[in-house]
Amino acid sequence: MEIFENPPAGSRLVPDGLDACSRAVRGPELSPKADGRFAPSPTGPLHLGNLRTALLAWLFARSAGTRFLVRVEDLDRSRARPDVEEAQLADLRAIGLDWDGLVVRQSERIPLYEEAIARLDSDGHLYPCYCTRAEIRASVSAPHGIPAADRYPGTCRKLTATERAEREATGRPPALRVRAEGGRVAFEDRLLGRHEEEVDDFVVRRNDGAPAYQLAVTVDDAAQEIGEVVRGADLVDSTPRQLLLAYLLGLPVAPRYAHVPLVLGPDGRRLAKRHGAVTLAERSLLGEEPGEILGWMARSLGLAELGEAPTPADLLARFAPDRLPLEPTVWSSEQI
Ligand SMILES: [Zn+2]
Repeated sequence: MEIFENPPAGSRLVPDGLDACSRAVRGPELSPKADGRFAPSPTGPLHLGNLRTALLAWLFARSAGTRFLVRVEDLDRSRARPDVEEAQLADLRAIGLDWDGLVVRQSERIPLYEEAIARLDSDGHLYPCYCTRAEIRASVSAPHGIPAADRYPGTCRKLTATERAEREATGRPPALRVRAEGGRVAFEDRLLGRHEEEVDDFVVRRNDGAPAYQLAVTVDDAAQEIGEVVRGADLVDSTPRQLLLAYLLGLPVAPRYAHVPLVLGPDGRRLAKRHGAVTLAERSLLGEEPGEILGWMARSLGLAELGEAPTPADLLARFAPDRLPLEPTVWSSEQI
């Protein structure tokens, strides 16, 4: 099936059910702004990979002369910790990053998300899902992109009234899922090029009543007028979902996206706590200063030479998005 009417200049969306003739549906326009953001979850300290993504998001925004915002994604109340948030912000400052305005917390914006969920629901885009995670896992055969366990096979989309009543009788509250209608979403990533994916019926409100990640991020990026989302390449599969939500919410514009390469551990997996001393605090116990860590990040991005101690301002002068390496960097502590 044809997805695009034209080579994409930006995001285009194709919910299948909307057009039997396979004509591409035009998604939100690209935002005319370039404001950027970094949006950590305060559930654990930032590691060097997170910090390098923050540096890149800052470089993209500041080199375009636009605002750079920090948003704390603390909707998971059981795991979010204020002391971790404080330490994350301190780490950003320690490597020389600054941001505009006050830090925004998702936990303080619940009514915005609820309003968006209500709008999607009244427009007929949502349905209740009674499945447990284990049930979903058991019924999914792996396609691609989003891990199999996180893709939804559509079990509750077409429940009969009797089947729904049976599930309601269990007393387990339902989650709310979006009717993606097997739609395919395509967008042009600034670094990775064209990315296209079928979107499944993902959750917008969890069964504990909390707004889901994809919904909150879409609402926030729109409300904060984020023009360019710079984030780790591991989140590229979230983008079609967020663009679909932007479309269903009738948002006039959507951000452009740049998914930046990750830092991997020596075992080739995404950098994490298990790889040893990977946070600023842990490196500092080994006698390494934040400036040296910044130097390593800069070298890993081709922005500095060994022995240099660049400042963020130095890096800004050298930064060119189209010269960034596209391959992940493998972390090794001897590199600092
Ligand atoms: Zn279900």
